[in-house]
Amino acid sequence: MSAIRHDWSRNEIRALFDLPFMDLMFRAQTVHRANFDPNAVQVSTLLSIKTGACPEDCKYCSQSGHYDTGLDKEKLLEIQKVVEEALNAKEKGASRFCMGAAWRSPREKDMPYVLEMVKQVKALGLETCMTLGMLSADQAQQLAEAGLDYYNHNLDTSPEHYGKIITTRTYDDRLNTLGHVREAGIKVCSGGIVGLGEARDDRVGLLMQLANLPAHPESVPINMLVKIEGTPLGNVDDLDPFEFIRTIAVARMLMPASHVRLSAGRETMNDEMQALCFMAGANSIFYGEKLLTTPNPEAAHDRQLFTRLGINTQTAVDVSDESRAEAIAQSVRQQQLSSLTRDAMATRDTVN
Ligand code: SF4
Repeated sequence: MSAIRHDWSRNEIRALFDLPFMDLMFRAQTVHRANFDPNAVQVSTLLSIKTGACPEDCKYCSQSGHYDTGLDKEKLLEIQKVVEEALNAKEKGASRFCMGAAWRSPREKDMPYVLEMVKQVKALGLETCMTLGMLSADQAQQLAEAGLDYYNHNLDTSPEHYGKIITTRTYDDRLNTLGHVREAGIKVCSGGIVGLGEARDDRVGLLMQLANLPAHPESVPINMLVKIEGTPLGNVDDLDPFEFIRTIAVARMLMPASHVRLSAGRETMNDEMQALCFMAGANSIFYGEKLLTTPNPEAAHDRQLFTRLGINTQTAVDVSDESRAEAIAQSVRQQQLSSLTRDAMATRDTVN
């Protein structure tokens, strides 16, 4: 039942979605236990390194420049600020630090700057992840050489529903970026969003695409739409929470060895629903107060929930004031020494 397969048919996946809820949960939990410690949840923290004014038109996104969502746009963060945030995340128990920029794709003059971020965050002993939009093969290679562990690029929804959600980049563009990332040897983080007004068959189609990639993504984020006022999907109907949990369970069964991440939308889920998601096979979360630009349950509440459920996070790391000061000072020294700094600052100042 937990063999790694890449030949899932639509009908097989439909049949899993159609199982009685308890049967589906039992089967998903069985697959989960065969592959993972059922009481361990990986914790990542996400930081927006460049916010808003994105040229893409993703109809759910507060950061798209196509919609008036009242979001303040921000320039690319300074490396030192990113290092500080990474230290905070480490202190709160994160093992992976994800950095996201609202770009169509990074420009060549942005690259030295993001490469430096990868190097410095990695030097803190954290796994690194970036989400910067579409990548060329060369950009993926540069990120791999800087030591990037994961690259996030979601498929969002099924190929059939995709055109109703995004028109400024194609499904194939996304698949090409995933191919470049994989070829460069970076681990892939790719999933989607449910609650976009799609049909169940679109959720089937999304998971079929992910599960039939040549290699399964190591991380599969399953997001629940966070409705943002001002976006075209600001008033879409709510998805039945059980349907969301079913999506997690089917993802677990199709991609048995991948980390399935409970991502955006957690703040609208009560503790009981989150527990059911963990039971269905979710074993990764984003942790912290903000998930890019949408709220996320406070880290303290997450820790409390883990304690109540007996979930062992990779334990919080105590970062002393001295080591924090030293890490930041080292970051500043590196920036001063680096010939990148002047170019990078110029880049930052010209970001839209
Ligand atoms: S989801 Fe990403 S690419 Fe799409 S508008 Fe938002 S920031 Fe831009």
